[in-house]
Amino acid sequence: MSAALTFLGAAGTVTGAKFLLEAGAARVLLECGMFQGLRELRERNWAPLPLDAGGLDAVLLSHAHIDHSGYLPRLVREGFGGPIHCSPGTVDLLRIMLPDAARLQEEEAEYRNRAGASRHRPARPLFTTEDAERALERLAPVDFDRDFVAAPGVRARFRPAGHILGASIVVVDVAGRRLVYSGDLGRYGVPIMCDPVTVEAADALLVESTYGDRRHPADDGTPTIVEAVERAVDRRGLLLVPAFAIGRTQELLYLLRELEEARRIPRVPVYLDSPMAIEATMAYARHPEEHDVETARVATAGGRPFGPARVQLSRTPEDSKRINALEGPAIVVAGSGMATGGRILHHLRRRLPDARHTVLFVGYQAAGTRGRLLRNGAATVRIFGEEVPVRARVVATDALSAHADQHELLRWLGGFHRPPSATWCVHGEPAAATALRERVIASLGWKCEPAAHGQRVAV
Ligand SMILES: [Zn+2]
Repeated sequence: MSAALTFLGAAGTVTGAKFLLEAGAARVLLECGMFQGLRELRERNWAPLPLDAGGLDAVLLSHAHIDHSGYLPRLVREGFGGPIHCSPGTVDLLRIMLPDAARLQEEEAEYRNRAGASRHRPARPLFTTEDAERALERLAPVDFDRDFVAAPGVRARFRPAGHILGASIVVVDVAGRRLVYSGDLGRYGVPIMCDPVTVEAADALLVESTYGDRRHPADDGTPTIVEAVERAVDRRGLLLVPAFAIGRTQELLYLLRELEEARRIPRVPVYLDSPMAIEATMAYARHPEEHDVETARVATAGGRPFGPARVQLSRTPEDSKRINALEGPAIVVAGSGMATGGRILHHLRRRLPDARHTVLFVGYQAAGTRGRLLRNGAATVRIFGEEVPVRARVVATDALSAHADQHELLRWLGGFHRPPSATWCVHGEPAAATALRERVIASLGWKCEPAAHGQRVAV
């Protein structure tokens, strides 16, 4: 028996991860992600999947990010009835993220129908809240480092990847061969999560390449954070942080607490103004088994790793509105991370025209987003149909990335005891995937192939 893999997403691009594994009669889908970003990519979500969803034995999921999991409700809608195997941390995050993704789909379809803005009449969501609920019923948690049978002749195991809560490297034994998929790899020596685990053997390897052409800054982001907090204190202003609810927010809360305890910043009120970020932070706190030793030590000593001294949870829209009347100094952490929507918008509209305030970006800002415009020094930005002047100071750090950079990817690849007979760079824009591939060939001497959308390969 031989096995084959078909790249149905995250090949030549970052999003839409889906890899179909076929061996004998077994059919397993590795990842079930949604395409995001440019319209041309998003339209792929609507194309019929070149597989029979009802004929799949199982889905193996590396982690909860929507570009890896967001197509699950649609897959279930199209007839998938098998188990979705993933780690317990991933289950917890999916319970937060899939219903939220469904709600966004429904809101967008409703908006398009009201505005008459769709070529499809009536506009429909890619999936509904009900589809998301049915997908959640299929989740089958498996602890890290436990072998399980995913389909006849297909054994699998999840290993910690250190990227976000629950993130896994997926090891699959099939047809006498070992296939290893890196999932999204985390970084070495960063707060909260353990380092990506070293894998020593693979016959076939899929490695992510999001930052295959980049190096992260040498500092840990704290100089920028300290300076931004000091500015808010000096000017009695607000420090607004647009942040992704999962991963980035917990890391920021962790660093703020650590800086307070080291007396590098004063204890100012920190408003966590996002129900999703509050839920995600509680999920992180529920999984100490995934924390690194420093985080575990804080919890063992009775402390709260993600709790700056004066943290306030802002759950309801009324809680969020009350922040409008707030005098600084204070820190407000709210979504969305690229200022494309969410509660951060009403804070930005109110505070951007005032030079006492500061905006701190802690994540990548994609082209075309308000976040990118602000980071690039725009004099005005459009919010709720209004041109808002930018007098607040805008600062940014790229140090809080959840992805391994080129150096860290090569460090992880260096842990294999012998070269895999085939390696493919997936989950990267063409420039990043190519840069990593060239480094793998040049410095490790391995055979390494680009992965093309729709391509079928023997593993
Ligand atoms: Zn991810």
